[in-house]
Amino acid sequence: MMPRATIIGAGIIGVCSALYLQRAGFAVEILDPEPPGTMCSFGNAGGICPGSCIPIAGPGMLRHVPGWLLDKEGPLHIPLLYLPRLLPWLLRFIAAGRVAEVRRISRAMRALHAPTLACYAPLLHESGSTDLVSKRGQLFVYETEDGPARDAFGLGLRREAGVQVEILDEAALHDLEPALAPIFRSGVFLPEQGQCANPGRLVANLARAVERNGGTIRRSRVHGVVMQGGRPSALATDAGTHAVETLVVAAGAWSGPIARQLGSKVPLETERGYHAVVAGADTGLRVQTIWAERKFVAAPMEEGIRFAGTVELAGLGAAPDMRRADVLLHHGRRMLRHVPNGTVQRWMGHRPSMPDSLPVISASPHHRDVFFAFGHGHMGLIGGSVTGRLIADLASGATPIVDPAPYRVDRF
Ligand SMILES: Cc1cc2nc3c(=O)[nH]c(=O)nc-3n(C[C@H](O)[C@H](O)[C@H](O)COP(=O)(O)OP(=O)(O)OC[C@H]3O[C@@H](n4cnc5c(N)ncnc54)[C@H](O)[C@@H]3O)c2cc1C
Repeated sequence: MMPRATIIGAGIIGVCSALYLQRAGFAVEILDPEPPGTMCSFGNAGGICPGSCIPIAGPGMLRHVPGWLLDKEGPLHIPLLYLPRLLPWLLRFIAAGRVAEVRRISRAMRALHAPTLACYAPLLHESGSTDLVSKRGQLFVYETEDGPARDAFGLGLRREAGVQVEILDEAALHDLEPALAPIFRSGVFLPEQGQCANPGRLVANLARAVERNGGTIRRSRVHGVVMQGGRPSALATDAGTHAVETLVVAAGAWSGPIARQLGSKVPLETERGYHAVVAGADTGLRVQTIWAERKFVAAPMEEGIRFAGTVELAGLGAAPDMRRADVLLHHGRRMLRHVPNGTVQRWMGHRPSMPDSLPVISASPHHRDVFFAFGHGHMGLIGGSVTGRLIADLASGATPIVDPAPYRVDRF
């Protein structure tokens, strides 16, 4: 009999885990009340960057925070009422910004992200999605000539990690991306980075591949874990009780209560992010481009141009504030020479975020055959393929593709 694995969550992390578990010989099923790839994995900026090794918390960041919070068009928003609940996470986030921590975290990020394109390759192939991912590079643009020099610490981290970095002056920048408005004076180009032209469609394709391989995707919500003899024997779902053997918790920003029931309390928060897409708009932009000072991304997508970003620390329950998507659109129109008119789609998604910018990819310290795969924050599309592979390695007892120690669930 094949071993059976149940995965909670059909985002990028759940479906990649499912495909790699199938490769490792498991019969898999995924439980999710929503169609695959329609939550956080739907609306991201599409970056699949092996060279991503800059933690979100960094030295010197704190001094920018008051300015960001006071600026209604700034990249960060924290409602005052949410602050008391957020505080424990925030303190850990601040602690993760110390130089020695940043260096350690950066190494763990690079280890996880470096094989991302190689780990996606077989999944793209078997799901018919090779057209969705291309290696066009990633561009950071600055309004000042000395922008790259002011980011010297981060650029140093990338270089130490072996990431190829090209510094561009104004002429080279506009030669590379003529679609950019003339307000930018310098840039940094990372040629090895990849981008996905439609992350929602990618996850849907991968989910269909899970089914073609004999897996099952059930539209049901998990309400809790049923324990028997001290171990999880079943899941309580809105479609009844569901027996489990191997269990993978990959429910994104909603994973915390399930992990807690399994004995692992995790500091998981949600960093809400937004996008505005101008449907059908071809701006001429080719490369995923980050406006470094304003901290958002312009990403050319299948459906049009997508402006994505913002960190809003307001929890899982608050209604979206689509004015933040409008701010992205406003700055996006300033960023590019020409953004044609078109229908604007606005979206908010819940990034599942750990305070140290590292995900949880881990065996449970309390229960055999229970695994955690969540907390990928700003980098879940990048981390998806390697996470899937690592979960399958841990579940099948194979040599792990990367050292799993930095991603342990009990590291806090
Ligand atoms: C604006 C923005 C831009 C971003 N840009 C990038 C980028 O360029 N590159 C990158 O790598 N990352 C990016 N990200 C981050 C990335 O999108 C996330 O890290 C990633 O989507 C997380 O995937 P996930 O599978 O963990 O979560 P999700 O996609 O949210 O999936 C979790 C699934 O679990 C299900 N679920 C929840 N609770 C239950 C339950 N009780 N029972 C069953 N199922 C449940 C949900 O319905 C959902 O389908 C961005 C995010 C945002 C918001």
